[in-house]
Amino acid sequence: MKYVAAIDVGGTSIKAALVSQTLEVITTTTAPTPQEDSTGHKTAQSLAAIVRELEQTHHVSAVGFAVPGALDEGKGVSRWTGNLGWKDLPIKELVAKELNLPVAFGHDVRSGAVAELRSGAAKDFQQSIFIPIGTGIAAALIIDGKIRSSDGYAGEIGHLNVGHDIPCVCGLSGCLETISSAAAITREYEKRTGYQITAKEILGRIRSDDHAWQVWEQAIAYLAVALEDLITILAPEAIIFGGGLSQAGTALIEPLQTILNERLTFQRMPQLLIAHYGVNAGTIGCAIMALDLLAKETA
Ligand SMILES: [Zn+2]
Repeated sequence: MKYVAAIDVGGTSIKAALVSQTLEVITTTTAPTPQEDSTGHKTAQSLAAIVRELEQTHHVSAVGFAVPGALDEGKGVSRWTGNLGWKDLPIKELVAKELNLPVAFGHDVRSGAVAELRSGAAKDFQQSIFIPIGTGIAAALIIDGKIRSSDGYAGEIGHLNVGHDIPCVCGLSGCLETISSAAAITREYEKRTGYQITAKEILGRIRSDDHAWQVWEQAIAYLAVALEDLITILAPEAIIFGGGLSQAGTALIEPLQTILNERLTFQRMPQLLIAHYGVNAGTIGCAIMALDLLAKETA
């Protein structure tokens, strides 16, 4: 049995797992994402430390890691990753040098889609969209059975203009991400009540707290605006929600379904589903990328 290290580098934390050839998660670990690391060196060292930790259980044969932002996945370059402060950074090469192991590299959202498409909620569809909703929002577009990224630029739906006046890190206002993400929900709740609680806590009280309900309802309404555009343009058979907010389950799906039933006229209504791998889709996808690399090397 072979084992791989699967590492999902997020804006604030790094989630990692030791995963077997049969996609069994053996052990997991997390670490904070190094801040102010424009050279990528601290991140590469942090990944090496994580692999050493995971290796204490089983020998690691390859590593799959994913990062957010605009990437050139083929070249292993981060073109622009706002939250990490990277620009034209050859991060795959830096990590491979530090690890001295075969390394597979991908985009955090698309690696989640790899997992869902291979053996999760997207596996029965040729056309689907995977949308993790966490600190930010982005989409992986699955078209004709393949994940399409248009040279790494496509799917940044967090910056679709859904029509409000809250400013965004991208320099504009009206973005989906600043009204419907977990971070946005926390911010909106605090604005209304003065209390800073997590999006998960807000979700836990939508039936008992009017402010929580209103913030959630608003987030869903704007998300539906973006979905309507996506459905009209891409006609997916299924939309699969991942990330922290997908844990809302029916509290996410049912109100979205109601709005879309009213708004869509001629378009194909997609099935609205929750990711099979939940918040771990990105990590499992990294493991699949690493195992695919091993299979290719031994073929
Ligand atoms: Zn924006």
